[in-house]
Amino acid sequence: MIIVMKPTSTEADVKNIVNKLEECGLKAHLSKGESITIIGVVGDKHIFLEKNPQLMPGVEKLVHVSESYKLSNKKFHPEPTVIDIDGVKIGGDNFVIMAGPCAVESEQQMFETAEAVLAGGAQILRGGAYKPRTSPYSFQGLEVDGLKYMANARKKYGLKIISEVTSNAAIEAAKGYVDIIQIGARNMQNFELLKTAGKTNIPVMLKRGISATIDEWLNAAEYIMSEGNQNVILCERGIRTYETSTRNTLDLSAIPVVKSKSHLPIIVDPSHATGVREYVAPLAKAAIAAGADGLMIEVHPNPAIALSDGPQSLNPEDFKKLCGELRPFIELMGRKF
Ligand code: PEP
Ligand code: MN
Repeated sequence: MIIVMKPTSTEADVKNIVNKLEECGLKAHLSKGESITIIGVVGDKHIFLEKNPQLMPGVEKLVHVSESYKLSNKKFHPEPTVIDIDGVKIGGDNFVIMAGPCAVESEQQMFETAEAVLAGGAQILRGGAYKPRTSPYSFQGLEVDGLKYMANARKKYGLKIISEVTSNAAIEAAKGYVDIIQIGARNMQNFELLKTAGKTNIPVMLKRGISATIDEWLNAAEYIMSEGNQNVILCERGIRTYETSTRNTLDLSAIPVVKSKSHLPIIVDPSHATGVREYVAPLAKAAIAAGADGLMIEVHPNPAIALSDGPQSLNPEDFKKLCGELRPFIELMGRKF
């Protein structure tokens, strides 16, 4: 349920309602827009409604929220969420590019990639230190050493960093190093991992599961948010379909659908969606046109020798060229980049 306050309502009206909700064991989440305040209510509302059958002072209306996700729901929070990572803003009218190798391989590799990322104008360096590989015999990542190399690149080049965590122990390890925790497609419904990420105050980028519906994805975001961490970024990275000419099928329709259902920012990853570097540029442009808040693109100093996902990785030169091509699209959409 949401309680929509009248534009003329006072702070005291809001406080009174929040107190009454809490007396009934309910959680109240305030969303203050320019003219109206909305109180999102989580929990069983029946006792509250029995005790308060009349609209309370300052209330415009009560609206039932039928979806099982509440905090990630646009009805709870009509304004788009903007996550501010020390000046790098994600969501609203901002546009962000995250780029870097699939896996952190060495400090030198991260430094070279950081230079390429900066040259393209991207704000966030990516790199996997804990790699969820399909085969147990593939390179599994440098773990804490990888995080340290990323943190050194962060310091040297002034970029923010994002890295995937695959376990609660990895979250613990990543805490001191990363600006954004990434939860990968394979772990989208690892509820214990989601809850642990929700107990941190580090922004979380939640990738869509390989065969997850949008509702399942928003419920997964809800697991993080219901633990207290409201800084969730969604990432569409392609879903599994019957098509085999690309690694996955990029679900571009997820962008407007998410925008209609949620206030959370949505990033698109055309690298994992296609698995083929030639297809990254056209889908990056399409994602911008469809309203994405940013892109995640795999870049490697030498994709031919990458330990993971070389065929979909761009080299520094191609990445810079792509960023130049994307700029007019980003501007056309009225985004700040
Ligand atoms: C990644 O971003 O490195 C990754 C493994 O992606 P996904 O979880 O989307 O497969
Ligand atoms: Mn990858």
